[in-house]
Parts: sequence; structure tokens; C-alpha cells
Amino acid sequence: MGQYNLFMNDELESGKAGQKIQKIIFDIIFQYIQDMVFVMKVESGPVFRYLFINEAGMRKANLSVEVIGKTMQEVLPADMAASLQHSYENLLLGKKTVVFEDVFTIDDQKIQGQTILTPIYDETNTIRYVVAVTRDITMIQFMAFHDQLTGLYNRRALLEHLNDWILSQRQKSHEFALISIDLDRFKYLNDTLGHLAGDEILKTVATRLMQFQNEACRIYRTGGDEFTVLLSGASRSITNAFVRKVFSAFSDSFYLNSQEYFISPSIGISMYPNDGKDAETLIKNADEALFRVKERGKAHYQFYRSDMNNVLTNVVTLETHLRKAIDKDELSLVYQPQIEIPTEKAKSFEALLRWKNPDFGNISPSTFIPLAEETGLIISIGYWVIETACRQIKTWSDKGYSDLRIAVNISPKQIQQPNLVSYIKRMIEKYQISPTSLEIEITEGAMREIKETIPILTKLKELGISISVDDFGTGYSSLNYLKKFPIDGLKIDKSFIKDILNDPKDAAITTTIIHLGKSLGLEVIAEGVEEKEQVDFLLQSGCQKIQGYYFSRPVSATDVELAFLEKPINE
Ligand code: C2E
Ligand code: MG
Ligand code: MG
Repeated sequence: MGQYNLFMNDELESGKAGQKIQKIIFDIIFQYIQDMVFVMKVESGPVFRYLFINEAGMRKANLSVEVIGKTMQEVLPADMAASLQHSYENLLLGKKTVVFEDVFTIDDQKIQGQTILTPIYDETNTIRYVVAVTRDITMIQFMAFHDQLTGLYNRRALLEHLNDWILSQRQKSHEFALISIDLDRFKYLNDTLGHLAGDEILKTVATRLMQFQNEACRIYRTGGDEFTVLLSGASRSITNAFVRKVFSAFSDSFYLNSQEYFISPSIGISMYPNDGKDAETLIKNADEALFRVKERGKAHYQFYRSDMNNVLTNVVTLETHLRKAIDKDELSLVYQPQIEIPTEKAKSFEALLRWKNPDFGNISPSTFIPLAEETGLIISIGYWVIETACRQIKTWSDKGYSDLRIAVNISPKQIQQPNLVSYIKRMIEKYQISPTSLEIEITEGAMREIKETIPILTKLKELGISISVDDFGTGYSSLNYLKKFPIDGLKIDKSFIKDILNDPKDAAITTTIIHLGKSLGLEVIAEGVEEKEQVDFLLQSGCQKIQGYYFSRPVSATDVELAFLEKPINE
């Protein structure tokens, strides 16, 4: 039998008994394998005639034994027969295995098949039979192009469809829109509520977006909390109207563990062909526009403009630069005084990170800290911040300014670093400073992992370091942790302070936090205080410390010395 050899031992190969066993074995195999097997006889013409079809072949291709002995043309719809005939003829011409993928419809169901045609020769080297093995790869294809969590198309599908669209639109010169959607605060919700809740949010978002999917509109999940929409035949005004519909799909709240949350999207848009003639440029430019939206306060949308690239190239470039920022000495710390009231003295300062890049200028921490957290760069940057703050304490103490305290922000990712405690200890020793002159600020998000966080905070506390909870009231506000964690202070988030004078609810929350803190023996600091009246209110409510533009913006260490530190007596 031509090139084909069966690997069998003697027992199966020899004699009638062997043949019988062979048949049984093949019958069993053909009956149970899920691939469709067709053996075709080759006749002159060439004509291909069904000789054998296995169980799966009969069932999946919806054929019956009657087709045995018939030709492809007699059995199959004309177009399918013609295309198969073509592949079979290629096999005869090329005299080697042919592999192809096609989509066929059986009982109104589209099946994606992958077929291998193998020739079987006789002793004169003529192809006598063709064995066709067809695998149903519909499911595999589906999984390759869909996101498992939401069932939406995935990034791979986006690239494929985008390239198809570009090819087909090129001749027609039609416009289409690539709409890049990112969920605001998703990372934060995911960190504070847990990944299961995060998954639920993503699924709900997918369902809400799915209502827009039709012939002209395809929805993709292209990353963690990133979604993309391709909108065909769309002018700018059609796209505008569409995006407004997307926003209204987010106007209903989301429910998680019977709590209500609001989630807004930020959206960046690029238009084909104006903003890019290839997939990569279109995606990059939509992301660029999205980045602008995020930077300017989120929950909004923006079309790409060609001048965007001039200043901040894109997030990827920003990340590359951020990686080098420490080595290139582009990072610095500024210090914002925390004023004791009513004495109006400043003995503690919050260290806030600043990044100045020669190409981009000053980049706000609200832009690069989330990026640093996402990429893990926050770990090395965080170490840099701790060391720099310790060095500053040493400098001040050498100048005779003692009894000062610097608070450093520690991101949730950093807390999970196993060597955080030993690093801080090393820095305290290196700069020979008092541990009481160092404070760390953690957010409520960091406290969710009770098991991991308590021992770390306890060790820091044992060293003599103060611990305060930043942005108090905005995160995972479980009062339980106030009892469990070894904390020294609460910082009331500036979002409450902003409206204390006008909004009775914010005023009530603020006074309640102050009373709560006091009765637990914690120091309470109000953040974001900008007006005299706010100071008065806080003073009356018994708040001990105030941080905000009213007294001072964050300033350089030298400016702190000039404006806030009292000249040492021995000078
Ligand atoms: P945060 O820790 O809550 O810091 C307070 C933020 O409020 C600072 O913004 C500060 O400049 C700003 N602020 C202070 N007073 C006022 C005021 O009166 N009005 C208003 N509107 N804002 C005021 P900044 O410096 O832009 O930092 C933003 C956030 O970036 C910080 O919020 C903190 O979460 C993060 N961050 C800053 N430096 C670091 C750092 O070294 N490490 C880490 N992990 N995060 C940092
Ligand atoms: Mg802070
Ligand atoms: Mg804060």
C-alpha cells in the first residue's frame, strides 16, 4: 500500500485471523473518534466517489449509508462540491498531503472544519484512494477569538477583523471608528472588592455593551478592563451619538454584594482612514486619545487629534521613560506641611513624589503612580521614596531641626513586598535617624489582605514607625480594621473636606470621622483644606491637624526650611 505503512506486530499482520482483528480495531477506532473520516475512490475525470464514511462523518455531515458509491457532486450542494473537488484535484496534482480549512453549513449550523487529505497509491504509483480526515474546529476557533470571561471577541479577533475591514474599506473609502473604552477606578475596585467582584463588573459591562453589537458594530474585550468597539460606516457625528449611548449604558449603577457602585468609562476614538491607515496606528491613536481623557479627569470621551502625539507620545513611551526616571535623577520629593491647630505649627510633612522629564515636563502623580502600580515599577520607586525621605530627615536633623516627622505614601503593592520591613529598618540604620521621625501612609485598599498586612504593620509599629490611613472613607470602609490594625492616624479624604461648608452630609461624615478617631486615640488629619472657613469648621470639630493649600502647597525641602522650620536654638 504505497507510502502508507501500518505499524503492527506479527500477530495482527499475519493471516485471516490477523485481518479480522485489524478490522475490529479499525471499526472501534472509526466508531469512536470524533473526527470525520471519508475514504474516497479516485476515478478518471477525476471523479471522487464515497467508499467509506465513519460514524462521526455520517452524523456531523448529516449523511446516510445511501451516499456510499455516489460522487461528491451527487451528494453535496454544488458550491461545496466544487470547492472540495478543487482541493482533491490539488492533491492529485501535487501528489502530497493537502491541509485546508473551510466553513460549511449543515442544518443551518456553520461548522469550521480543518481537513487533511492523504493520498493512497497503488503499485503503479497512481493515487487510488484519498482519505479525508476533517476535524470540527468550531469550538477551538471560537475560543481562540473570544474572551473566556465575557464571551466577547478578544484582542486577536480585533486585529483580524480590523485588518479585514481595512482591506475591504480601502476600495470603498468608507470611514469607520475604533473606540477604546477603559473603566475608571476598575483597578481600585478590583483591589478593594476582590477579583471575583471584579469579574462580575466586567461581565455586567460586557452585557451592557453587547446590546450594541450588530452587523455594523462589534464589541471586543481587549485587556483587563479595556473594551474596544469597531463601528463601521461611521462619521464623526454617528460616532458621537454612539458614544453617548455607551455612556448612558453606564448610568445605571452596578450591584455587588448588594452594595451599589457607579462605574464610568473613559473613551478614546480614532477614525479610519484619517487617524491611521493600519491597525496598529488606529489602536495606538485611540489609546492616546483615551490617555488624554484619563489625564483630564476621566468619565469623558475624546477623538484623537494629530497634535496629541507631540507632547506625550503614548503610555508605552511614558512607561519606558518612567523605568529610567530613577537613574536619570528625574524624580524628586516635595513636602506638604501638616499644620497643628490651633498652634499653627508644622512638625510633620507628607512627602509627595514629583517626576520631571526633559521631554514631557512635569508629569502629575495621578498619571504616573497608577502606571507605576500597574507595571510593578512602584516597588523600586517606592524604595527610592523611602530612602530619599530618610536622607531628608537626616539632613534636617544634622541642621539641628529635630522632632520632625515625614510621612511617605506606601502603595498596596509595596506592602506585599516581603522585604519592606527590613528595607525600612536598613534605611533607618543607614541614616541613623529615629524611627519615630518616619510615618507611612497606607490606603484602605492595602488593609483588605488582613492576614498578610497585620504582621507587616505590627513589625513596622514595633520599630517605632507611625502608621496612618490615607484617603480615609473612600475605600474599603470596614470599621473592623480600625480595631485590628495597629494604626496611629486617619487622614480624612479631601473629597469630604471640599464640601463641608455646603453639604451637610460631608460635614456630618467629617465630624463623625474626627470623633471616631479621637475616641480610638488616633490622630486625625484633614486633607485638601483650601479655605479659612474650612479651617474654622475643623477646629470647632476638634480636628488636630490640617493639610492643604490654605496653609501650603507641597514645596521643596529648602522651602520647608525657610517657611516652616524654626531656627535651631544653638545657631
Ligand atoms: P495623597 O497621598 O492623598 O496626597 C494628597 C494629594 O492631595 C497630593 O496630590 C496633594 O498635592 C494634594 N493636595 C494637598 N492639599 C490640597 C488641597 O488643598 N487641594 C487639593 N485639591 N489638593 C491638595 P499629589 O501630590 O498630586 O499626589 C496625588 C496622589 O499620588 C497622592 O494622594 C498619593 O496617593 C499618590 N502619591 C504621591 N506621592 C506618592 C509616593 O511617593 N508613593 C505612592 N505610592 N503614592 C504617591
Ligand atoms: Mg498620602
Ligand atoms: Mg490622601
